[in-house]
Amino acid sequence: MTNSKLRFRPALSKMKAYVPGEQPQGGKFIKLNTNENPYPPAPAVVEAIRAAADSRLERYPDPVGSSFRRMAAQRLGLPGPEWILCGNGSDEILTILVRGFLSDGDLLRMPTPSYILYRTLAEIQGARCEEISFNADWTLPAAFSSSDGDPRLALLPNPNSPSGTVLSPQAVAEIAAPLPCPLVVDEAYGDFAEENCIELVKQHENILVTRTLSKSYSLAGLRFGFLVAQPHVIAELTKIKDSYNCDAIAIAAATAAMASNDWLTDNRAKILATRERAKGKLRELGFDVLDSAANFLWCTHPDRALKPIYEALKENQVLVRYMDYAGWGDGLRITIGTDAQIDAALVVLARLLQSDA
Ligand SMILES: *Cc1c(COP(=O)(O)O)cnc(C)c1O
Repeated sequence: MTNSKLRFRPALSKMKAYVPGEQPQGGKFIKLNTNENPYPPAPAVVEAIRAAADSRLERYPDPVGSSFRRMAAQRLGLPGPEWILCGNGSDEILTILVRGFLSDGDLLRMPTPSYILYRTLAEIQGARCEEISFNADWTLPAAFSSSDGDPRLALLPNPNSPSGTVLSPQAVAEIAAPLPCPLVVDEAYGDFAEENCIELVKQHENILVTRTLSKSYSLAGLRFGFLVAQPHVIAELTKIKDSYNCDAIAIAAATAAMASNDWLTDNRAKILATRERAKGKLRELGFDVLDSAANFLWCTHPDRALKPIYEALKENQVLVRYMDYAGWGDGLRITIGTDAQIDAALVVLARLLQSDA
């Protein structure tokens, strides 16, 4: 060991790998575990992919994804494309942010329970991670905004995962103001919520918003996400990205998706209707279910253990996400699928809860 030529950075040796939600490659699961959209993407997206495949794949793509940036700026009401940075999934955008703001030993602040990938990204970078617990009502305590410990970056999913709860833009602005660093509002689920923080970016250079096409646009398999920030922030972070971080097919598809406004409106309406129906049924079964502003529901139960429920669902080909947060507790995060998928899950749950009550 001491003679090994493989001298990995100590930060890497010390850390554990991030484990994403299960992605079974056989077909038969009802998959409600990684917040994918159950519906196919807009037809225009598939057409754009075909057209891109037929044109000039022998050439490198546009390094900055200009067509997407123009379309996204227009759709989001931003002054211009220089407010957008394209990424190979919003996870890549998060990686770029962590690399841009955190050196060895620097402090990353994040809430808990929330998106556990943040901690992994900090660990890869050799940064430290401070987790601040949400209040009982899913607001954040003043400690989240404190300059104590000199945080260099703060990450906040909004709507939050796994809770599905959301803070108003007003509350987010109040959190950002005292912070001595950028506040990244991770709006992976922003399209499902009533409000978002895009307007705040125009007024505050330390508020940055990340978005993904994986969830609301049904494109998890494509890998495309983006950052919204003031142009000087985008310019600085662009130095970090790979020259061609998004491929020509992804750029074409993402541009077509962003243009498909009616498709998004319809898709969102379907998901929200199913979500509200599922929430009522799960509550009837005895679960405590938080109101959600996203495409999933966070469920706990006053007197039933949740891990066995997760396991029994899995035996019945229904995959949900079991999450256990040290010092906080556990729960089931159930993605909103089609009505038929949700009904099938509810049938299994009803049987499980009755059989050994
Ligand atoms: C799904 C998710 C992402 C990652 O999105 P990709 O664009 O697929 O990488 C980022 N943040 C949160 C909170 C998510 O749930």
